[in-house]
Amino acid sequence: QQSEMLLTLNNIEVIYNHVILVLKGVSLSVPKGGITALLGGNGAGKTTTLKAVSNLLRSERGEVTKGTIEYRGEKVQSLSPSDLVKRGVIQVMEGRHCFEHLTIEENLMTGAYTRRDGAAEVQKDLELVYSYFPRLKERRKSQAGYTSGGEQQMCAIGRALMSSPETILLDEPSMGLAPQLVEEIFEIVKDLNEREGVSFLLAEQNTTVALRYAHYGYILESGRVVMDGEGAALLENEDVKEFYLGLS
Ligand code: ATP
Repeated sequence: QQSEMLLTLNNIEVIYNHVILVLKGVSLSVPKGGITALLGGNGAGKTTTLKAVSNLLRSERGEVTKGTIEYRGEKVQSLSPSDLVKRGVIQVMEGRHCFEHLTIEENLMTGAYTRRDGAAEVQKDLELVYSYFPRLKERRKSQAGYTSGGEQQMCAIGRALMSSPETILLDEPSMGLAPQLVEEIFEIVKDLNEREGVSFLLAEQNTTVALRYAHYGYILESGRVVMDGEGAALLENEDVKEFYLGLS
């Protein structure tokens, strides 16, 4: 049975500064209700792909010069980043990007600013975030800049949840975190996927962990998809084992 595709990239090309060709025809699909992983080494083009979807390349002097990006069948290339947010596509950027001078709770609340529903619904979602991240509840009055790397990553995901997302684009959630914390974060991603129905497209250099949680994976190399398949199958694939597992 065919699952419904939320996001489809068809042969997209991205050029930085008018000359540097970074994505050389990337195609991929993100099904509703799935966890999809975008894998590959440093500089393969994972971040560029995620930013292309949310239309965040302009400030980096990057441009999609070929191909199409569709969300729920609608071409989204001419939409603004906030239009994507309104459609339920929320980006969690690499490096976490919490507001350091705001408290954890204030950071979470910034995720709710585009919402049209009432304070009661927002409060309910705040409780939901705290139920997934009890640690954030404990630290809700702490200035984000003084919390740990893991807590800031949780805060960034929590803030995305406050926007009532349908799809979260999650860039390198494992970056800089101890293995046990990486596991903790991926377990929460899995729970959010299964219980809240959030779909994920996540970029990871940590191929082993990502493939253990992803239903489907795409491997990028120098701006091209060189392999794709179900998570479990890629994890067992000899080429993947040789070139990617244990890399990070
Ligand atoms: P990383 O995990 O290091 O972020 P990545 O797979 O996400 O790697 P990208 O950040 O998408 O890779 O970068 C892909 C290529 O594009 C790299 O060669 C990088 O140097 C180049 N690149 C990224 N941003 C820009 C920019 N603003 N201007 C020019 N080149 C850029």
